[in-house]
Parts: sequence; structure tokens; C-alpha cells
Amino acid sequence: MAPGVYLFRSRKGEVVYVGKARSLRRRVLDHLRAKIEKDGSILAQSASVEFVPTSSEREALILEASLIKQYQPPYNALLKDDRSYPYLAVTLSETFPRLLLVRRPRKRTGALLFGPYTGAREARHLQQMVVDTFRLRRCVRLPKTACLYYHLKVCSAPCIGAIDAAQYGKDVAAAVRVLQGHGEEIRPALEAEMRSSAERQEFERAAHLRDALAGLDALSERQHVVGPGRGRVDVLALAYPRDPSTLRVAIGRLRVEDGEVRGTDPHLLSISATDPPDPTEVWRQFLGQFYGSGWELPARIYLAGAVSEGLAPILDELFESRGIPVQSR
Ligand code: SF4
Repeated sequence: MAPGVYLFRSRKGEVVYVGKARSLRRRVLDHLRAKIEKDGSILAQSASVEFVPTSSEREALILEASLIKQYQPPYNALLKDDRSYPYLAVTLSETFPRLLLVRRPRKRTGALLFGPYTGAREARHLQQMVVDTFRLRRCVRLPKTACLYYHLKVCSAPCIGAIDAAQYGKDVAAAVRVLQGHGEEIRPALEAEMRSSAERQEFERAAHLRDALAGLDALSERQHVVGPGRGRVDVLALAYPRDPSTLRVAIGRLRVEDGEVRGTDPHLLSISATDPPDPTEVWRQFLGQFYGSGWELPARIYLAGAVSEGLAPILDELFESRGIPVQSR
């Protein structure tokens, strides 16, 4: 069964606790029981539990961290300072950047951060593979002589001027793309540079790029892509009751950034039992209320569940006239 994230909500709908489980079906009840035994007040404060399945434990961890940052739930005090989780940091403020494993990301100003990762072992493995593949330096300060890493051909040795800052910067940029999960995108550029290096008889550079290309396969770990394209995508789904006398409709928003799930916003809306609005009217009011005043507009939007042609004017006004494509099914 898939891993995922669960959210405890209060009667007012506020998130009071966010947790993750490796397997929602098998483990979530044990997990919840342990939490509740440790602090029964979570249960007393909660009126509902919501589940968001993910495609991997790492994705669950990222989503959990993102939701905790978003909601600041009162029972997640332990996770609020991110102490337990490792990140990878590219020290872009340095002329020859390094890739470090860090546990207190907020202290790393001027660094590009990736993570959190599920454990130090996973993060360290990825760090070593990327550093070796792109021959990034390990030393804290550049000495005047090269160390063993240069002789093992896993560092391009800026310490002795074997590579200049521009060339090293290209390798750092490629490493960043790999850490962002876009390793395959840089393959054509690496191949082209390898060929041109060989033509210019820069055989060492060409061999380095050949090794980097070989390393790309091993570095292909990435999150499950749930939506195409870059930037933020909002996926909205409407659950309309068969029996309108239940007085509630639900609209959920899934926020996806660069193909990764970053958060959820469920909304329960009250409807009139005597004169219930149809689904189109529910959509119209919801979109107008949230996107018309306040919510940041996404790069693309998907609507699921009972979307009729009557919605076209407001979709045009809010999104399409601003160049935001809307897809519905
Ligand atoms: S080869 Fe030079 S730049 Fe690379 S890790 Fe060793 S000392 Fe640092």
C-alpha cells in the first residue's frame, strides 16, 4: 500500500497535527495509536483525519515538511525546526561551490537547498554520487596542492588551476539540475560538450563528461511526476452530494510545484437545503471567492468533477484571459 501523509483537523477545520506513514493502510493506525497514547490531547482537539497518498516515502516526507511549514500545527513542535532531517546544500556563495550535507538548513544562507531526505544514508549516498560525477571539490579551503581526489579523478582540482571558475560553474549547474530531478534534460548538452571537447583535443574534459553521462542513470532518483510542466499547478476536485439535503459540498485543492505535490487545501462548503445550487454555481462561487481575491494564480489549473460549459465565462475572466490554461474532465 502507498505511503502518505495524514492531517488531523479541529472542528473549525484547522490543522492540529501532520504526520507521515510508510504505508497508510498497514501502519497508519498503529502510528496514530502511538501518537495518541503519547499525547491524548491530539485526539481531543481533532474532529477529522485526512489522508494524502504519495508515490514514495521521500515524497511523503517532503509533503509532510511542506504542510507543517504551511500550517504550523500546534502538535508538530518537534518538526518545526527541521532538526531531524538532512538536506543537501550547494554553497553558491563560494567561487568553487561544494555540495554539503546539512541538518540546519536555515543557517546556510547563500546556499541552494535540496531535501529533506528520509535519512542521512540516502542523502549521503546522493551527495557522494553527485560530487563524484561532477568532480566537485571536498576541501573547506583550497590548498596549493591537489589531494588524492584529483589523482582518483573524482575532483577537477580548482586548487591547482586544473579547471577555471567558468568551467567548474557549468559542472555545478549540471549537478543542480540533477538534484532538481532533471538529470535527463542535461544529457544532450553534456553529450554535445563531450564531442566538442574531443574535437578540440581536450581529452581530459571529454573523459570527465563521458563519466558524468555514465553517472546520470544512477542519479535518476526523482519524485513521481503528477503534472506536466514547470511552475505551480493547481488541481481542484469537487465532490457534490447526491442528496443535497446533506448541506455540504467539498472542494479540494492539490498544489503541485515542478511536478511535486506541495500541499492540500480541503474546503467544506455549506449549501442551502431548500434551494441547493448546482455544481456549476458551486464552482463559480468558489473560484470567484478564492482566486478572485487573494489566492496566488497558478501557471496552469485542472478541474475535476462536474464542470459544465456554464463555467466558461468565469474561467475566462479569472484564468484564460491572463494566459493561464484550464483543463477539465
Ligand atoms: S583536489 Fe584540490 S580542490 Fe579537489 S578536494 Fe582535493 S584539495 Fe580540494
